[in-house]
Amino acid sequence: MGRTSKDKRDVYYRLAKENGWRARSAFKLLQLDEEFQLFQGVKRAVDLCAAPGSWSQVLSQKIGGQSSGQVVAVDLQAMAPLPGVIQIQGDITQLSTAKEIIQHFEGCPADLVVCDGAPDVTGLHDVDEYMQAQLLLAALNIATHVLKLGGCFVAKIFRGRDVTLLYGQLRVFFSSVLCAKPKSSRNSSIEAFAVCQGYDPPEGFIPDLTRPLLDYSYDFNQLDGPARFIVPFVTCGDLSAYDSDRSYPLDEACRLKKNGQLAKELLPQECSIGRVDKLPQ
Ligand code: SAM
Repeated sequence: MGRTSKDKRDVYYRLAKENGWRARSAFKLLQLDEEFQLFQGVKRAVDLCAAPGSWSQVLSQKIGGQSSGQVVAVDLQAMAPLPGVIQIQGDITQLSTAKEIIQHFEGCPADLVVCDGAPDVTGLHDVDEYMQAQLLLAALNIATHVLKLGGCFVAKIFRGRDVTLLYGQLRVFFSSVLCAKPKSSRNSSIEAFAVCQGYDPPEGFIPDLTRPLLDYSYDFNQLDGPARFIVPFVTCGDLSAYDSDRSYPLDEACRLKKNGQLAKELLPQECSIGRVDKLPQ
């Protein structure tokens, strides 16, 4: 039987409950940060497709203090309030939402833009991958308006057939693009995360919300070419971290909890998470 994100056998679901995260997804961002030090020096961040808000929780805790305006969180759905997090309810593919986000960063750009957006999955892989790519491009378009030079963009990506084109587009704007799979993301899922560091748009690039990024006639061949640009694939998460594809018996979790080992060992800020291996894709 397939798993849902609320499956009680799912160890990351239980740990999220245990540690007060709103969703198991919190561990994905924490594991990505362990690998890429995403939060280093970050003062302002945007969390796109943020509900129910576990990434916003992580961001507001990690980027120091919880003063208002450091994190702007956006989602189609309403989200329970979080201290220091400005919330916008809206569709990131809509011009009005993008404008509302951008106005928070005028004159004071963001260091980090994250997007964990996922469309309602239809089961038709091509359709799902296309919808996911549209979300990513909408997020990238917003990022081009709010990110400071050298800033970082992290977005969920479906590793489908045409993912190379997306990598090529991301590479136009960032000096480094990697594909990362945190240990808390199930192997059975085609989800991974594009980690794009060093925001560096092409000379003369003027961000324009009304013009889809796909329309730009960049010469991809001059920029390594999407067909030839091999994005490194990195898995992150300590070898001893729980495997998100395994079922751990509840009694084991109960025993650890009873002995005070569970919360102690697994508080996210104390997690020891490192690189497991690097594989060419
Ligand atoms: N990162 C979140 C967390 O840690 O709590 C979980 C995000 S959840 C996997 C995906 C979210 O994407 C959903 O809340 C959904 O409403 C949002 N979403 C999907 N399409 C969107 C869109 N066009 N605009 C804004 N949010 C969108």
